[in-house]
Amino acid sequence: MTDRLGPPLAEPLFDRVAIIGVGLIGSSIARAARRKNAAGRIAIADCSPAALDRAAALRLGDEISASSAEATAGADLVIFCVPVGANEAVAREIAPALKTGAIVSDVGSVKGAVIAAIAPHLPPGAHLVPAHPVAGTEQSGPDAGFATLFLNRWCILTPPENTDPNAVERVCAFWRAIGSNVELMNAAHHDLVLAITSHVPHLIAYNIVGTAYDLEETTRSEVIKFSAGGFRDFTRIAASDPTMWRDVFLNNKDAVLEALGRFNEDLTALQRMIRRGDGEGLFALFSRTRAIRRGIVELGQETAAPDFGRRAGEDAESET
Ligand code: NAP
Repeated sequence: MTDRLGPPLAEPLFDRVAIIGVGLIGSSIARAARRKNAAGRIAIADCSPAALDRAAALRLGDEISASSAEATAGADLVIFCVPVGANEAVAREIAPALKTGAIVSDVGSVKGAVIAAIAPHLPPGAHLVPAHPVAGTEQSGPDAGFATLFLNRWCILTPPENTDPNAVERVCAFWRAIGSNVELMNAAHHDLVLAITSHVPHLIAYNIVGTAYDLEETTRSEVIKFSAGGFRDFTRIAASDPTMWRDVFLNNKDAVLEALGRFNEDLTALQRMIRRGDGEGLFALFSRTRAIRRGIVELGQETAAPDFGRRAGEDAESET
């Protein structure tokens, strides 16, 4: 099999990388960093004994521990890969164990709230370089990860003002090494962009699947039976991890509510078009949205395959 991640680096970028939380994202980072020789040693911690057992069985790290502080000791780069709401607890726990000059990063889908949760706990001399890999699936846990998850996907870094540029560059280099394209953005802008491109779409999926299920008299069996169309894609998104998504909405409240306000206005306009029989208006909108989809496929962020082109199962089976 040709390795789509490319050959390993001659020298690791970091001597020791600690990964706190070995779920879908943490285990994918561990696999990719190992394959690319981006980390000399990988130390893994997680609060879930089952996740630790799987991480050990899959040999995802050189050290595997229930203690985040133990994994952090001596690490040059510590990456929090826990649900957004757990970042503050992790920051408190690892802060006393941080090596002077260590870089602390994360992968949270929300940036403003995560920076506010982590930054106050870090000792002087530690560098906070938050990151959000815009890559994922609806699966969770160490078995769901795969080394090519980040390949050709964006990773957005949101370093607070005055962050040491060298620390930012080292985190950029790490994400590039494991296949990502990197972009820098401020945290507030990130949260607004992701509210409309990711958070609200998930909310819509949760809502439509919930609504269909609640129409039980007429649809309960039909929901399963006829879900080969657009609804099937919604059920996939609505199967995403409840803890992760609860935390996203609670921690990106303002931006999500702003995006939802706009969405509701546009939905009302669509309702009006249907009521008035405005076929021209509907056709014009649907043509515009079709062109947007085409643009996303052309940018290589998606394939034209009808399953959203994620190929997650394929990669997960062949590339652990
Ligand atoms: P996941 O598969 O559920 O893994 C998270 C792991 O962290 C679990 O094993 C969890 O254990 C553990 N954990 C929770 N609190 C902890 C703590 N205080 N100390 C140590 N370990 C702890 O989650 P994921 O999908 O990898 O998501 C992780 C982060 O990535 C989230 O912040 C999410 O916003 C971000 N993200 C996710 C995606 C995606 O598609 N999934 C994409 C981009 C970014 P328990 O299960 O026992 O709680």
